[in-house]
Amino acid sequence: MTEKLFYRETGAVEFTARVTGCDAVKEGYAVTLDRTLFYPEGGGQPGDTGRLGDAVVLDTREQGEEVAHITDRPLPVGETVQGEIDWARRFSMMQQHTGEHIVSGIVHRLFGLDNVGFHIGRDAVRVDFSGPLTDEQLREVERRANEAVFANLPVRCDYPDGAALAALDYRSKKELTGAVRIVSVPGVDVCACCGLHVSATGSVGPIKIVSSQHYKGGVRILLLCGARAMADYAEKTGSVTAISNLLSAKPGEVALAVRRVCDENAALRQKLSALQNQWMELKAASLPEGERNLCLLEEGLLPDALRRFCLLLTGRCTGVAAILSEREPGQFQFALGSAARDVRPLCRELTARFSGRGGGSAELAQGTLAGAWKEIEAFIIDLE
Ligand SMILES: [Zn+2]
Repeated sequence: MTEKLFYRETGAVEFTARVTGCDAVKEGYAVTLDRTLFYPEGGGQPGDTGRLGDAVVLDTREQGEEVAHITDRPLPVGETVQGEIDWARRFSMMQQHTGEHIVSGIVHRLFGLDNVGFHIGRDAVRVDFSGPLTDEQLREVERRANEAVFANLPVRCDYPDGAALAALDYRSKKELTGAVRIVSVPGVDVCACCGLHVSATGSVGPIKIVSSQHYKGGVRILLLCGARAMADYAEKTGSVTAISNLLSAKPGEVALAVRRVCDENAALRQKLSALQNQWMELKAASLPEGERNLCLLEEGLLPDALRRFCLLLTGRCTGVAAILSEREPGQFQFALGSAARDVRPLCRELTARFSGRGGGSAELAQGTLAGAWKEIEAFIIDLE
């Protein structure tokens, strides 16, 4: 049975231990020690990483009564090794975990909801609550959570005896037996938990709820604590500053400014579409009537404009009408239509001949082609 130093020495980074086992596993080797600072995955908290002698510890897991260190190389059984956990990562895990307690405790106290799922991910902490929470309620939770951080409250871990435990009102995901580890933050949370936490709430740093969504009748939130919250703030400040400079808007008014640009864009698209329609009608009217096949190349027409133009052109010829627009040199988008015949077989023939793709209805097909414009034009004009 591995002695779990991580519960006793939560701030320790280095330790020495004796290798008690080493087995080849899928990801490398599972090394067991007589004692360890490496926290194994559990209670929503990922396993620690770091080094054992020359070996890299990729992950840590529980293996019955033992703690298995997943390493990239084997270690000799019986040898004493120096271990070092990746402290920056572990400290972040402790921050995220404690932040999750603070938020879950506040949600429980204010709104009576339970934390029904929790995971510390690579980028954010995901927490699922048993009922819905409005944006306003979540803002209140976030405000109180940060107040708890500013108050630098102690985070205690105790193993209360049977009677004391029975009298205690604490959050727990499952019925627990044996010694129960109770993690408490005065006035904020009391919870049964096997994970690792910082010793005072001030060490959690800023707590930020970055998103929420409906999830299984409740709500799923994403949470960032400490350096993660600061990195997110820096990234978002960067985005807002860039948008603010682009649109010459005050940082606090960028959403309004973007809304204005979107509205202007929609109005311009509508105007462009109307002008395009007029231009297409004039262009179609200028073409000689009664030709068998028509094939035109026009710059910058999007698929919808190609379709509208092609329908106009089918009225000017007795056979098929095609309109193409060059996207990149030798790469075309096309619309092919006819009022007199089914264009689907012609579309297949055309795309087979010019390495393209396409499809549509009997009256109109659209797609892409690759090749030389002159050859495509000759192919369409010569269609029987
Ligand atoms: Zn915990």
